[in-house]
Amino acid sequence: MSPIESAAVDAAINRARTRQAVHLAPEPSVHTAPDEQTVLARLLRHRLGLANHPAVISGHSDERHMLLPGGIHYPAVALLLSHQGWSLRFLATYNDRRRLVFDVVDTCPYCHEPVPTEEIGRAEDLGDYLLRSRDALGGSPRFRLSPAHAVGCRARGD
Ligand SMILES: [Zn+2]
Repeated sequence: MSPIESAAVDAAINRARTRQAVHLAPEPSVHTAPDEQTVLARLLRHRLGLANHPAVISGHSDERHMLLPGGIHYPAVALLLSHQGWSLRFLATYNDRRRLVFDVVDTCPYCHEPVPTEEIGRAEDLGDYLLRSRDALGGSPRFRLSPAHAVGCRARGD
């Protein structure tokens, strides 16, 4: 396991044990960032508790997913979190309550395409995801709606 994964798993186990998540400071100001991808990378870093971590987060437009539910103009942003040869992909979008959310992108178990799989709001969520302990929560709301599934994939809700 990478150090980021180990820390996330420890946080998840601690949350399960104490029923309390680590307090997250207010989200960083985004008004001084030079562009949207920098804003999103900063927010993901903050939510995962990696503010002072040397991990790199890079971003690019994801033309297959839209930033807003039902949107057609603004693409979502794909983010790659990487550190020491380990990496994890995320998709940044707004949910239907206009809150910015990050989904971890993983392989669809049916069509094997990379799709938004689980909403990750903090390090504890990532730990739960890595431990595969979130089955009861049912995964990301974006999973069934993702246009990244192969045509005819049975994961897609119609
Ligand atoms: Zn699929």
